[in-house]
Amino acid sequence: KETFLKSLRSLDKIQECQAKYNIFTSIRPSSLLKDKLNKIHDLGNADGKLSCQLAVIKDNIVTMSEPTTCASKMLRDYRSPFESTITKILEENGTVIIGKTNLDEFGMGSATTHSIFGATLNPLFPEEKRVAGGSSGGTAAAVASGLANFGIGTDTGGSVRLPAAYCGVLGFKPSYGRISRWGVIAYAQSLDTVGIIANDLDTVREVYKILNKYDVKDPTSLDPEKRAEIDDLVSKEYSRPDRNILKIGVAEEFNVSDLSPEVSKAWFDCLSKLQKAGHEIIKISIPSIKNSLPAYYTLAPAEASSNLARYDGIRYGFRFSDSSSKDSENGVLFAPTRTKGFGDEVKRRILMGTYNLSSEAFENNFIKAQLIRKQLRVEFDQIFRFENILSRNKVNDSTGIIDFLISPTSMTAAPKLEDFEAKDHSSPTNSYVNDVLTIPASLAGLPTISIPWRSSNDVPIGIQIMGQFGDDDRVLQTSEILK
Ligand code: GLN
Repeated sequence: KETFLKSLRSLDKIQECQAKYNIFTSIRPSSLLKDKLNKIHDLGNADGKLSCQLAVIKDNIVTMSEPTTCASKMLRDYRSPFESTITKILEENGTVIIGKTNLDEFGMGSATTHSIFGATLNPLFPEEKRVAGGSSGGTAAAVASGLANFGIGTDTGGSVRLPAAYCGVLGFKPSYGRISRWGVIAYAQSLDTVGIIANDLDTVREVYKILNKYDVKDPTSLDPEKRAEIDDLVSKEYSRPDRNILKIGVAEEFNVSDLSPEVSKAWFDCLSKLQKAGHEIIKISIPSIKNSLPAYYTLAPAEASSNLARYDGIRYGFRFSDSSSKDSENGVLFAPTRTKGFGDEVKRRILMGTYNLSSEAFENNFIKAQLIRKQLRVEFDQIFRFENILSRNKVNDSTGIIDFLISPTSMTAAPKLEDFEAKDHSSPTNSYVNDVLTIPASLAGLPTISIPWRSSNDVPIGIQIMGQFGDDDRVLQTSEILK
């Protein structure tokens, strides 16, 4: 009943928040949402934990009720003929989806500034115009402004965790393959992961519990046998006599020189809290973290260039036609469709990716980046106690020494929009650097949650807990300590 009443009140705030922060790419009609809420409430199956909860969905996840735009001109009017597995499951569980949220075009960016709908602003700083983070900025802003109980985003290199950190909410990226990608428009599918953003840990856990399912439609979905193997390993961990004393790793490579003093302090305070609670803090080194950023910005654009080849003006979305041009048959022009349909950042990624896949650069760039990724996994496998059931890089007590890694999520608190854009325009690599702390977990497919930590001046700083592949439950369990 309480959730129902709270949700009804939240519906009245949608338009006001949209006008202030530009959160949505589309909003479902208010009367329809009220009807839905009333119906779910009247049906009386409100005992389900997600019943009557309001949710938002990042607009690169397909739904049939409205267009799925990826914040791109290319898909501005695109309507999916099918529904994503995630939205289907959520609605079956009584969640009311209020709308689709803004993002960086096709998920490429770190601040939700590269969108045909304009930038999303951070609701925590109503007077200051700070960025919400990206690329799931709209989702994080909807949760931070209190409109939605939770939101669904996607995280390819940090896009759930970074906006969660900037907006002072929780952002959980489960292990790769845990939540179905059926209906998630691909950016870089070897990295794309669906994630959950919410204000409290209980909600993150409830949503995760419901979405953490094998889906036959997603070829990269973790199969039931592997899930069972992981469950066995987790039960073993929970039955260890020393289970309440965690070994927390601090990787020196995360201590990058650009960490702001407030972020360093938050990291330190958080480790002190864990130590005081009896956990052991261990300094470690994972050398390949240093190479992760260039490896990611080689691999992700390479996959993206291939994925985006389907937007040719024929099969999907936007089509530029100029019947007066003699180059075109029937007035359809492939190159101008892509020139006009994609934004600058997306074009930059297509060029980078295509170049890195070309015969000239393939060996030296693409293959090298794959090797870095492989080496990074090996180093994570050596450092975690929990066994990686995918790689089977054997871990024994002398190699696997830690349970979790803890690091900041971002190098600074949310920057001002003006400052972010000035840096981004002077060189796009300035914003790529923002991802240095989130990318290692993406390359290795590790479960990671960003938790808001209040700094001394009350600006939230994101702290990440990273676990071994498959160790999602314990990552969530451990998050309790930092609540
Ligand atoms: N900022 C990163 C990129 O632009 C990550 C984006 C994401 O996770 N979708 O690739």
